[in-house]
Amino acid sequence: MITWILVFGWLGFAGIASSALAFVVTSLYERRWRAVGVAASLFMPMLGLFAALLLLDFAVRPWIVLGLLVVGGLAILLLTLPIGSAPWMQTRGEQERVDERDVVFHRFYRLKPGTPEFEAYYHDHPEKIKYDEEVRALPQLAHPGAKTYHQLASPFQAAIFDVLEEITREVDWKPDPIEELPVQASPEEFIRRVKGFARYLGADLVGTTKLNPAYVYSHIGRSPGKWGEPIVLNHSHAIAFGVEMSHTMVRHAPDSATTTETAFKYFEVAKIAMLVARYINLLGYEARAHVDANYRVMCGPIAVDAGLGELGRLGLLVTPQFGPRLRLSVVTTNLPLIQCKPIHFGVQHFCNSCKKCATSCPSGAVESGGKAVYNGVEKWQSDQERCYRFWRRQGSDCSICVKVCPYSHPCTLLHNLVRWVIRHNSLARRVALWGDDLLYGRRDKSRFDLPDWHAKQGCVETDPSL
Ligand code: SF4
Ligand code: SF4
Repeated sequence: MITWILVFGWLGFAGIASSALAFVVTSLYERRWRAVGVAASLFMPMLGLFAALLLLDFAVRPWIVLGLLVVGGLAILLLTLPIGSAPWMQTRGEQERVDERDVVFHRFYRLKPGTPEFEAYYHDHPEKIKYDEEVRALPQLAHPGAKTYHQLASPFQAAIFDVLEEITREVDWKPDPIEELPVQASPEEFIRRVKGFARYLGADLVGTTKLNPAYVYSHIGRSPGKWGEPIVLNHSHAIAFGVEMSHTMVRHAPDSATTTETAFKYFEVAKIAMLVARYINLLGYEARAHVDANYRVMCGPIAVDAGLGELGRLGLLVTPQFGPRLRLSVVTTNLPLIQCKPIHFGVQHFCNSCKKCATSCPSGAVESGGKAVYNGVEKWQSDQERCYRFWRRQGSDCSICVKVCPYSHPCTLLHNLVRWVIRHNSLARRVALWGDDLLYGRRDKSRFDLPDWHAKQGCVETDPSL
């Protein structure tokens, strides 16, 4: 009996030691020095004591080892069994369609001083003039004068956004005027083809849902088309796509290297939506891609309905796989499809106590208190205007909230294990948050050298006399 207790004691020791080693190696690989230091200072004394206990021979030793094993086993059970509940995001009444002209980007990317739309908008919204004049006086993102501007690095973002804008002008193909009827197949068959094609094209996440008409913008704002025209979109279904953003690029937030990644992933996810829309169209059905700067629908709520994730405190979709570290696009269509179920993995509960995005947001744009009902949905509502003004001051799309979110950790074995554990266990969510603060800090202070190709050296001063 005593021999067996000691054998299990050594197995427990090996388990803790290998977990500690795996964590330290992962943190070294991620270059998270604070996490390495904290883990080493916690695990080393613990392992030393456990080893001493196993090696030293005294009368009650087996019973202490047995006690530790029982406590450890119970702790593992408590943290891994599906315990506790987590609230769903609640709808509390009618949801009205949102006017795209109420989205802050519309004012700075569509309205040009001197145009009739500019005059009409500010005639109806004089309360916006002061803020908008202040922001217009700041340099454009990735343009000379911006805080993070660099002659060799900033054009990366401009290049991607410029090409993206060109190729996403045409996103709404109608079926060719062919005489044959649309291709017939079961919804299961269609979904199998569409999902397979999207994944082949590079989508990390794909989900489908019935299109909630409340998520169709009411009037054209920033997007191409006649400004202020009512939007009519009678598609029955929507397909949401997600593409992961590179963790090694996002960790540079709020530097503009993160904006390069944002731009590139918008490009990638737009490409997927456009190709899938065209594929559906060639089957004889209507399909429209909704991509950066050319939306008729709100991608976030559609992605929630399509089962890609939950809406987090930071006002973005939080997915189980990548947290908010991804970009979205949508295809709406009249192709008959099977719907995915919305998912629920504890984000509302985790965000209640976490608040890291709110604490770290330099503009105070993320709500740090409780939820409130906005347009029929109980949620945390971020302040778009505060956020965007900070972008213009910084010259990048900031993304600090995305970087610091504990769900955004890279997809290594250990982080994936934590993600799995916290999905169904409310106690594990509390422990994980405590551990995240301890290992990485409540405010992320890590600094990483920019990738060589994005570094801010190498400009030769131009001689103004030339
Ligand atoms: S992007 Fe930056 S400014 Fe905007 S909400 Fe996130 S942290 Fe705040
Ligand atoms: S940082 Fe925390 S509070 Fe903010 S979205 Fe992520 S989990 Fe929620």
